[in-house]
Amino acid sequence: MTRADDTRGARRGAPAIFLDKDGTLIEDVPYNVDPGLVTLSFGAGRALAQLALEGFRLVVVSNQSGIGDGRFEAAALDAVGHRIRELLAPWHASIDAFYYCPHTRSFGCDCRKPAAGLLLRAAAEHRLDLHRSWLIGDILDDVEAGRRAGCRTALLANGNETQWELSPLRTPHLVVRALPLAANCIVAAQRARASSEEACHVHALG
Ligand SMILES: [Mg+2]
Ligand SMILES: [Zn+2]
Repeated sequence: MTRADDTRGARRGAPAIFLDKDGTLIEDVPYNVDPGLVTLSFGAGRALAQLALEGFRLVVVSNQSGIGDGRFEAAALDAVGHRIRELLAPWHASIDAFYYCPHTRSFGCDCRKPAAGLLLRAAAEHRLDLHRSWLIGDILDDVEAGRRAGCRTALLANGNETQWELSPLRTPHLVVRALPLAANCIVAAQRARASSEEACHVHALG
């Protein structure tokens, strides 16, 4: 099998958008598990609908250390996820899966962002193509998790990152003010990549 066949073949998984939850998909209310307090961030419905239409799976990846330090039970997050799905329903955008790290920082797991464990698990369980996937988050720990998983990354510059400890792994590919602009840029980048892969395939056949 040639390289071109490999990249175009049906064996390849789907691209995904990995979404941080608090401060990215929804407004940040620290340690909240009350569905009544969940509100989508600006433009989230429209942005996710656009990305889903383009063929991206939508996967939430979220640190929830409130479980590990006993603030709430893991099951309490089910109601939050259900509310998010309700709020997105009018936009015909649906979240394919929610992945949570329940651990505190001191626990030392491999799933708490900036580690990549949540993304790697989601990719294995949902057959996702990490190299065609993006992570969108509001802090550099999100960006680092995305880069560690081999994804491209978009940082929402909404003021939630305050430390700015930069390194190559913590440098976003894209910085945007809101989700709709992230969606526009990601769709444009995806189409550009697809057309260049098409050109490479033609070249390989020649
Ligand atoms: Mg966040
Ligand atoms: Zn963890």
